[in-house]
Amino acid sequence: MKPTPFIAGNWKMNETIAEATALVTALKDAVKDVKGIDIAVAPTATALSSVAPLLKGTNIALSSQNVHWADHGAFTGEISVNMLKEIGCAWAIIGHSERRQYFGETNEGVNKRATAAIRAGLGAIICVGETLAEREAGKTLEVVSTQVKEGLNGLTAEDSKLLVIAYEPVWAIGTGKVATTAQAQEVHAHIRSLLKAQFGDEAGAAVRIQYGGSVKPGNAAELLAQPDINGALVGGASLKAADFAAIIRAALN
Ligand code: PEP
Repeated sequence: MKPTPFIAGNWKMNETIAEATALVTALKDAVKDVKGIDIAVAPTATALSSVAPLLKGTNIALSSQNVHWADHGAFTGEISVNMLKEIGCAWAIIGHSERRQYFGETNEGVNKRATAAIRAGLGAIICVGETLAEREAGKTLEVVSTQVKEGLNGLTAEDSKLLVIAYEPVWAIGTGKVATTAQAQEVHAHIRSLLKAQFGDEAGAAVRIQYGGSVKPGNAAELLAQPDINGALVGGASLKAADFAAIIRAALN
């Protein structure tokens, strides 16, 4: 049986507080009847506390776009797990390719962030994915294997209950180029085998693997129908309530 689909919207560095509250108000209305799908939005840090009360009692969970591994201390610009939980976050996106590419985040750092999050009860959406050069060099599975193995180092089957992997080919993020269903399923199946090897068959099969990279209302259903695709991490299209709602509904099929 496939796990419950999980559709998350990564708003990146977009939306002021006023815009974020308007967006989430429209989204709440657009998906209020949806059942059987997990939904989350990840506003920018400044908007988290304004969006949180609007999501209470709804079918939409709150996510941050990152989290630090330390409880508190001299880590300028970072936010701890407890601070995010205090606001009402249930999830944190970790190791997004933009964090890796522009801010030097490493698999080791991803592992520390994810371990701290999960062990304190915050769900971790760990992002992995190859660049275009890596794909063209035939290194996709090798790169993704390293990111998954090092990112998940030390996590147990119990920890995996709060784990989600987002496979996001870097060349497909924000470019309008989406992976073909065959390309996506191939990598998802590979990630599934790594999860089963680490957590055992049952726990490994239960971990959601999201696809991310130019997911739109028009391509979501086909991607989400693949056997190892259990949801989507959506950037650009999550900034329009109607488009994000259409992607969520595509997971109902
Ligand atoms: C993302 O940033 O995680 C993403 C998938 O972006 P987009 O949907 O815009 O490609």
